[in-house]
Amino acid sequence: MVLVAPLLFWGCPKDNLPSRPRATVSSSTRPITPSPPVAFNGDRAMDHVKKQIDFGPRPPDTEQLAKTRAYITNELKSYGLTVSLDEFTAKTPQGEKKMANIVAEIPGETKTLILITSHYDTKFYKDMNFVGANDPAASVGTLMEIGRVLGNRKEKAKVTYRLVFFDGEESFCEGWSECGNEQSPDNTYGSRHYVSQMRARNELETTRAMILLDMMGYKNLELGRDPTSTRWLQDIIWQTGRSLGYDKVFVDREEGVGGDDHDPFISAGVAAVDIIQLTSYPHWHRADDTIDKVSAQSMKIVGETILASLPRIAEYIIKNNPQKVPNTKTIQ
Ligand SMILES: [Zn+2]
Repeated sequence: MVLVAPLLFWGCPKDNLPSRPRATVSSSTRPITPSPPVAFNGDRAMDHVKKQIDFGPRPPDTEQLAKTRAYITNELKSYGLTVSLDEFTAKTPQGEKKMANIVAEIPGETKTLILITSHYDTKFYKDMNFVGANDPAASVGTLMEIGRVLGNRKEKAKVTYRLVFFDGEESFCEGWSECGNEQSPDNTYGSRHYVSQMRARNELETTRAMILLDMMGYKNLELGRDPTSTRWLQDIIWQTGRSLGYDKVFVDREEGVGGDDHDPFISAGVAAVDIIQLTSYPHWHRADDTIDKVSAQSMKIVGETILASLPRIAEYIIKNNPQKVPNTKTIQ
């Protein structure tokens, strides 16, 4: 997560901010039972968190992030997903940096797209061993596990799901206002580039929802509502989470977030929602954002909720055909 909510927190000091199911063995002596559908496994998501942390701090254009990228890519391929890289060079306050978004697709009956996303870079710190267990290893691990579940589905969904792991979400400079400007912000490099690619390929028209996971693995998980997110999309996810019994997690308090990877999509007229715990996560952008702060259960709660929400979102899109918001802002 970058230093977010420039309108709300501009210039504020940081302190104020807030196992795979066993295959059924058939034999001639008992009837063949169909193997159960693959379920979200929090322990697997936790393994992905550990693996990422083992690579060390993972800012853009580093060997550590390249290793992370290879790991994510190989895992997704092993789930049967088609994976591609969206490579580009970004101009940053530290000069030109090579970046790559990772994209994996689960084709559905139609080309209507729902994106499920997370950033996978960690924030650069000169003098801090920042490993980002919750920001972003937990959301990456959750998204990978969502990919495994979707990749194992036998029946095609009504819409196409695409997982996108963004590079360069974090700013290179310590604070939001330190570098960059509105036209050329020092953050969200990957999501802004991806929106420009989608626009060039005329894919924004068919992209009807974008779900962003960012800092949602805290052991004391509580997710408030980001007011910049699209309300109908947020409502479906919040209602689904509560219907699964997670009403203490999906709460109504406002989470003051803006400027995250969902922002370029909202500006481009795509319905988008940020699932984030920022203000009540005391280890944000600190050296103690370590693995003991995240839990398999929290990742499972969010993973299960997203997986249960997807068909509901698809249904809503097909039934209501929500009008796209006119594109009023210019995206780089
Ligand atoms: Zn961050």
